[in-house]
Amino acid sequence: MPSEAGAVPNFVPLAEPLLVGNEWKYVKECLDTGWVSSVGPFVERFEREVAGYVGAAHGVAVASGTAGLHTALLAVGVGPDDEVLVSDLSFIATANAVRYCHAYPVFMDVDAATWQMDPEKVEEFLRTMCERRGDGCYNRATGRRVRAIVPVHILGFACAIERIVETAREYGLRVVEDAAEALGVRYRERHAGTFGDIGVLSFNGNKVITAGGGGVLVTDNRAHAEYARYLSTQAKDDAVEWVHNEVGYNYRLTNIQAAVGVAQLEQLDPFIEKKRAIAARYEAAFRGVGAITTMPRIRDVAATYWLYTVLVPEATTLEARRALIKRLNASRIGARPLWHPGHTLPPYRDCPAFRIVHSPRLYARGVSLPSGAGLTPADQQRCIDVLLQQIASLDH
Ligand SMILES: *Cc1c(COP(=O)(O)O)cnc(C)c1O
Repeated sequence: MPSEAGAVPNFVPLAEPLLVGNEWKYVKECLDTGWVSSVGPFVERFEREVAGYVGAAHGVAVASGTAGLHTALLAVGVGPDDEVLVSDLSFIATANAVRYCHAYPVFMDVDAATWQMDPEKVEEFLRTMCERRGDGCYNRATGRRVRAIVPVHILGFACAIERIVETAREYGLRVVEDAAEALGVRYRERHAGTFGDIGVLSFNGNKVITAGGGGVLVTDNRAHAEYARYLSTQAKDDAVEWVHNEVGYNYRLTNIQAAVGVAQLEQLDPFIEKKRAIAARYEAAFRGVGAITTMPRIRDVAATYWLYTVLVPEATTLEARRALIKRLNASRIGARPLWHPGHTLPPYRDCPAFRIVHSPRLYARGVSLPSGAGLTPADQQRCIDVLLQQIASLDH
C-alpha cells in the first residue's frame, strides 16, 4: 500500500511465506480426519511429490532441514571424530549437523566469482593436506578421517556440484548436498540436491516455499532412504514390542506441516517465476551503478534467487556496511548481511579451515534485499530507491 507523505511506510520483510493456495483446505482436512501427527496421507504425498519434482527416486520427510542434514550425514556413515568438508559461507545449520554426529567440520573457502563453495580448493585440500590409507582418506594435520563433503547451494544458485562430486568419488568421500535454499534450482537441467548421495531440502518459513517448518531428504539410493526413515522415527525395529536397536531421533514431519507443504508445492513454479522477475527488476535498477555489484551469472545454472544479494564496494569497511544495513532497517526494509564466516564463530574456531580468503570479504560486502514471492513492485521500488540513496552517501 503506498504511504502518504510523512506516514511510516510498511515494513518490507526479507522473505515471508505466501499462503495463497490450498493451505487452509488441506490443513482443515487434517483436523477433520484426526490425522494431525507424524503419520498421515499428506506426509507420504509430500515425500512423493517433492522427490518427483526434483527427479529423485525417494523422499523422506523430516522436522527441519537441519534434522535432515543430521540424518543424511548419519545415513552415509559419518561418525565420531570424522571430518566433513563444509563451506565457510553458509547458514550455521550445515556445520552444526556435522557436530551433532560428533564429527568435525573442515571449513572451505568460496569462489570469488560465484560466491559458492570453491571446487578447486576442495580438490587442493584433499590432494595436498590429506593422504589415502587402506580404509579411507585422512587429514594429515589432525589424523582424522575425512568422510564426506557437504556442498551447499546458496542464495538460490547451484555450486559447481558435478566437479565436487567427481572429486569426492576420487577420494572415496560421501556427498550430502545442502540444497536447503535451492529447491527448483537446476544445474545443467538437473535439480540441485540430486547429484550427491543424498540431498537435503528445507521448508522453513523463509525458504521459497514452506511447510511451516520441515525438510525432505531426496536420494536415488533405497538403502539410504530406508535408513534415514528408520533413524528419524526413533530407530523402531519392532513397534509392538518397543525394540530399538540403535539410538534414533524423533525427527518426523507432522501431517499438518506436510499438508501446508503439499499446498505450497502446487505454487512452487509460479513463486519461482515471481522471484526471477524480482531479481530482474533489481538487476535493471542497479545496472550501471558502479558502487553496487549484482549477483553473479553462473554458467549452466538456472537460478531461483532465494535471496537477492548485492555487494557494496570492496573499500567499504565492515562498520560502514553494518551501518548501511541499520539504516535500511530503520527505513523499514528487511535487509540482512550474508552469514558470518563459519570458521570464525566460537563453536568452530578450533576446527580446521583451508586457505580462506573470499568468504570474509563477501561477508563484509554482502547485503541481502527483500526477495519474497509476495514482494510488490511498489515495495521493491522503495527498497531500490532507499538503497541507491544510502549507497550514494556511504562513507568508506
Ligand atoms: C535454512 C537452511 C538450513 C536449515 O534448514 P531448517 O529447515 O531451517 O532447519 C540449512 N542450510 C542452509 C544453507 C539453509 O539456508
